Amino acid sequence: MLSQETIEKIKAKLVEEKIKILKRLQKETEERNRLRDKQAVGDEADSATQLELENISNVLSSMDAARLRQIEEALRRIEEGTYGLCEVCGEPIEEARLLAQPFATKCIYCLETEEKKRY
Ligand SMILES: [Zn+2]
Repeated sequence: MLSQETIEKIKAKLVEEKIKILKRLQKETEERNRLRDKQAVGDEADSATQLELENISNVLSSMDAARLRQIEEALRRIEEGTYGLCEVCGEPIEEARLLAQPFATKCIYCLETEEKKRY
């Protein structure tokens, strides 16, 4: 089982990551609004580049959104007291793995079994 200390450490990491992502998303939104305003003025020559920029930032945002969901999920599991347990077999996930990958929801064994099935 994970010690309270380890859980606190992981929780701090998750919250830190969450703040980072939220800040980045906010910046992206501002940037996108700025581009949109510029586009609205009718800068035809630049609109292709702007569209490209928007696409890139959309991809980034959806990645961040997925990560954000993982963070929320991990924080919820910490609150529930189920954090660190494999969602497949219910066995505790290795502590070193959780510290490196706080979003891990499966133990190494189940992860490998799943990957073998996939390929
Ligand atoms: Zn497992």
